[in-house]
Amino acid sequence: MKIELKKIIVRELTNGFEDNAEAGVVGYGGKLDIRPPYQREFIYNDKQRNAVIHTITKNFPLNVMYWAVREDGNFEIIDGQQRTISVCQYVNGDFSVNGLAFHNLTNDKQKQILDYGLTVYFCSGTDSEKLEWFKTINIAGEKLTDQELRNAVYSGSWVTDAKKYFSKTGCVAYQIGSDYLNGSPIRQDYLETAIKWISDGKIEEYMSKHQHDQNASALWRYFQDVIIWVETTFTKKRRFMKGVDWGTLYNKYKDEKYDTEKIEKEIAKLILDDDVTKKSGIYPYILTRDEKYLSIRAFTPAIKQKVYEKQKGICAKCGEHFELEEMEADHITPWHDGGKTIEENCQMLCKECNRRKSGK
Ligand SMILES: [Zn+2]
Repeated sequence: MKIELKKIIVRELTNGFEDNAEAGVVGYGGKLDIRPPYQREFIYNDKQRNAVIHTITKNFPLNVMYWAVREDGNFEIIDGQQRTISVCQYVNGDFSVNGLAFHNLTNDKQKQILDYGLTVYFCSGTDSEKLEWFKTINIAGEKLTDQELRNAVYSGSWVTDAKKYFSKTGCVAYQIGSDYLNGSPIRQDYLETAIKWISDGKIEEYMSKHQHDQNASALWRYFQDVIIWVETTFTKKRRFMKGVDWGTLYNKYKDEKYDTEKIEKEIAKLILDDDVTKKSGIYPYILTRDEKYLSIRAFTPAIKQKVYEKQKGICAKCGEHFELEEMEADHITPWHDGGKTIEENCQMLCKECNRRKSGK
């Protein structure tokens, strides 16, 4: 890992400044990706933007910025994106401060701005070194998401292609997946989720392996397969399907055969069950049969107290006496056998007996 301190003047930075949907935002003679295509939009408000210009015209220092040095010798901004865009847009004449645009300034004022020096760290190294470093410096300022950082570290043909599918507002992944995924494409949530699913959580390993692939069509095909599987297994669309860890379930259960009508009937029943407090957990439960996904309702403190008094502090299994705090409430008839979370189905057990009963 090499970190070099450089002075970059505004004149160099704004040289070749361009902002368009295809190429993203570039500067520094076309060698700096200020914002890659389909990344986040500009998020500074007028006050923040003007403050950057004031700092420069007063010749006060701006905070340091970080650029990643890419394999091809070009650069990508890791920290300082919004400040850089502010400077470039001002010099480009895109906005004015106190009624004065850049071209309204006197020549010496213009020159002062163009000669202003920015402090930039150039960071080069292996991918994993860079990723570690970026996570460390990405604490303050204009935060990038983890996936934005990964996109910078593993930049190349693969990630460029993947962004076309997953990273644009209204992109194809959003069109087919927005009922099932949380987050937003431009914050890279869709791309992150898709890679997480296809790689069983090993996102960086996967990106490293495919960095120089010509395209990301394998990921896109996989993502479509997941969505089709969800829609053909769970035939009725519901609000709380959003955010379920679908890809992980797909990886494990895609080859099983299911009676979709039976599944649909069971889901409808579980939705009406007041003891099921986490409705989105119904989907993983149907496939895994693990009740933990449903967050079965617990007995209230009032019920526990009442049952404790009724038992006179005696554990219903071992017959020993315990304090209330040493005991736990247990469903006499388990939930999956039709037992409800009501006083009549509650017994107090000592922790030891409860652990033995639930087989933990
Ligand atoms: Zn006991």
